[in-house]
Amino acid sequence: MDVLSSLSDLRTARLSLNGTVGLVPTMGYLHEGHLSLVARAKAETQHVIVTIFVNPTQFGANEDLSKYPRDLERDLNLLRPLGVDVVWTPTAEIMYPPGYQTWVEVEALTRPLEGAMRPGHFRGVTTVVAKLFNATQPAKAYFGQKDAQQAAVIRRMVTDLNFPLEVIVCPTRREADGLAMSSRNTYLSEVERKAATVLFRALSAAKDLYENGERDAEKLRGKMKEALASEPLASMQYVSCADYDSLQELDVVTGKALLSMAAYFGKTRLIDNFVLG
Ligand code: AMP
Repeated sequence: MDVLSSLSDLRTARLSLNGTVGLVPTMGYLHEGHLSLVARAKAETQHVIVTIFVNPTQFGANEDLSKYPRDLERDLNLLRPLGVDVVWTPTAEIMYPPGYQTWVEVEALTRPLEGAMRPGHFRGVTTVVAKLFNATQPAKAYFGQKDAQQAAVIRRMVTDLNFPLEVIVCPTRREADGLAMSSRNTYLSEVERKAATVLFRALSAAKDLYENGERDAEKLRGKMKEALASEPLASMQYVSCADYDSLQELDVVTGKALLSMAAYFGKTRLIDNFVLG
């Protein structure tokens, strides 16, 4: 496993890889969710490149960039047994050289949900992911359903910009009690960690309603709100029942839909989602 930081070393290593490359972009502090993406890449492509880069441009001014958890040695030890070819850990100076002024922006899909709550977030995501695609030239790139809007936005970008690669979206890995795995879970105190399971319970309650025949999207949103309100340590930011493709809020669920939500537990902001249909 080559662990590289400079762009020229990455390019040299990439040139030596013959056959298909699977790319797994991450911000590090890896957990089973990330590792499931790596395992899928390993099964589907001849070589795997994992990138670890806490991308400053996708964090808002009041977000957690400086305290985002980082532990490269721990991450490398988790990746070594998985047969990864290259781990690329570029610096911010490599990704954003002095005078940087080029951005990739997806329009309508980035406006609702996370885009509405985190202005500029997706511009940072699409820009860095486009740069990672250019540097690593993958045949397939792996993303998690956990970040459903991100996956949709990257799919759109790949189609719109004719990137010659396939986007693979992998299921959300969860803790035994349903909490979606996230590097940010490490911020939670013990009581907040327990309270955070309300996200999974709220999504499950709405999904149960749906499975019992409810198609009124407002009722499904209401169910999620009610569940979140029952947990005093949860502070809801939004709940959504949206069309799976456009991410526009629905009145009535007819086809595939996305139930999603964001809530604060203390200072920690968590998101989760389920797909319906
Ligand atoms: P991050 O390091 O948070 O930027 O995540 C890197 C990739 O891992 C993204 O494509 C995420 O959607 C994905 N990911 C994060 N958490 C999970 C999870 N619990 N299950 C599956 N994929 C995940």
